Amino acid sequence: MNELRHQGIGMTSQRTRDRLIERLRDKGIKNIALLDIMRSTPRHIFVDEAMASRAYEDTALPIGLGQTISQPYIVARMTEALLEAGPLEKVMEIGTGSGYQTAILSRLVKRVYSVERIEALQQQARLRFQELGLRNIRLKHSDGNWGWKDYAPYDGIIVTAAPSQVPKPLFDQLKVGGRLVIPVGEKGEQQLLVVTRTEEGFDSKHLDLVSFVPLLGGRG
Ligand code: SAH
Repeated sequence: MNELRHQGIGMTSQRTRDRLIERLRDKGIKNIALLDIMRSTPRHIFVDEAMASRAYEDTALPIGLGQTISQPYIVARMTEALLEAGPLEKVMEIGTGSGYQTAILSRLVKRVYSVERIEALQQQARLRFQELGLRNIRLKHSDGNWGWKDYAPYDGIIVTAAPSQVPKPLFDQLKVGGRLVIPVGEKGEQQLLVVTRTEEGFDSKHLDLVSFVPLLGGRG
């Protein structure tokens, strides 16, 4: 038992975390503020204790209820794309999940509004934010297909589950000049898109092929 616990500590050590950041850098992530925040945010508290020893591997991991915590590289890639045009104030996230992406974002923007359809996941995430002293996050238990109208329009929107098409309310709730980062498509063929709202309409650009859990309808 002691030996196991010891191993756990080793696997979550600063050196292990630094290695993950090096990997993100090697894979092309350039935003220094983002890399620093990912270095100092403990990912192991966002996964079950049994998975803690794998928290600093660059992989998605199960978080229960059929959901996953996103791969660190994807979190970095999406966050970098969201922030590419400069600092943001209000950001909406759809799919709080473990809260890891939310926590990273909350340290880079003024306020995060995050929507999750599974209440149990939302409650766990809330406790983690308290533990980390993150106070600029608001959570809503709802179907993210509707966005979160009360605080719209947003400077940025990030979606961490894949719909087959962008839900219309997300377009409507984006500010002119704002950016939406979203995986779109069916299982096995999802594209990560960055959509910018202009005065005239929406510009869309492909970033990557990705693999996310589906954006479901209704509350879980
Ligand atoms: N960013 C999260 C990713 C979690 S996986 C993390 O890194 O932990 C995607 C999440 O989207 C799951 O928690 C799932 O329950 C949630 N989700 C799926 N469909 C949804 C919907 N329609 N509205 C809100 N959340 C949804």
